[in-house]
Amino acid sequence: MLRCPQCGKGGVFSGYLQFCDTCAVCGADFKAADAGDGPAVFVILIVGAIVAPLLIFLQVGLDLPDTLALGITLVSAVALCVAFLPPFKATLFALQWKHKAREATHEDVE
Ligand SMILES: [Zn+2]
Repeated sequence: MLRCPQCGKGGVFSGYLQFCDTCAVCGADFKAADAGDGPAVFVILIVGAIVAPLLIFLQVGLDLPDTLALGITLVSAVALCVAFLPPFKATLFALQWKHKAREATHEDVE
C-alpha cells in the first residue's frame, strides 16, 4: 500500500507524509505527486464516524466522567488520524498515477 505505484517495490515516502523525489527501485518520478486535501477529507470522515459513536458509548454506555470520555476520544481521534493519513495519501497518489491524473491547464480547455 505504501509502495511505488509503478513497480510495487520501492517506498513512496521519505518522511511521515513527504513523497520521495523518485522511486529507489525503478526510478519513477514522484515530483509531480500531489494528493492535495483528498487524504485528509477521507481520514476526517472515517475517523469521525469511529470516534463519535465511541464518545457516545463512553458517556452513555460506560457512564464515564465527561472529561475522561472526551480525553479518550480525543486521543483516539489523533492516533487514528496519524495512523490513517499515510496509507490514504499513498492510495490516492497511486490512483492518480494509475489514471494519469494531473493538474488541468488552459490547453486542456481549448
Ligand atoms: Zn518503483
